[in-house]
Amino acid sequence: MDFLNELTMTFSSLSENEGFARSAVAGFCVALNPTLDEITDIKTAVSEAVTNCVVHAYPNKKHGKIEIWVGLTKNCVHIAVRDDGVGIENFEQAREPFFSTKPNEERSGMGFTVMESFMDTLVLNRRKSGGVEVLMTKKIKGEKIALGGMNAVL
Ligand code: ATP
Ligand code: MG
Repeated sequence: MDFLNELTMTFSSLSENEGFARSAVAGFCVALNPTLDEITDIKTAVSEAVTNCVVHAYPNKKHGKIEIWVGLTKNCVHIAVRDDGVGIENFEQAREPFFSTKPNEERSGMGFTVMESFMDTLVLNRRKSGGVEVLMTKKIKGEKIALGGMNAVL
């Protein structure tokens, strides 16, 4: 697929990086003139995916790596959140609402359900390293009046 613009960033799986990650992705997507609601949806989904890497991916280490890739097409945002952690044994079970392997640590088991409902597609892949890749897409319908950014020139 041909992307108009792409971003890749790698950072440590520390909770203090979660806000930065979702703001960076949101800032990158602004080029497509998304509505405030669309930006909020993307931020929430990225936040859940990154939090999962921080909380679940590296239980035996202080922290590991998180990679985020974003690809923009004319009216769609593609996002991948990747880790090299312990992985998920059963994807179907992990995606079930209220399923959590850490129910006693204020985890409600709703992360994947939230990502699924705020984005248009969600795919989980097992990486070569054994870690998880979360692939999400969201169509950007945008504002009726384009104020700038890519829509203005396409
Ligand atoms: P919540 O997101 O509501 O705080 P949660 O993180 O447990 O709770 P989900 O985000 O839906 O719920 O994830 C479901 C389960 O999938 C987790 O409990 C965990 O076992 C597993 N999981 C999710 N992401 C990863 C990951 N990156 N690496 C390893 N396991 C993961
Ligand atoms: Mg979660």
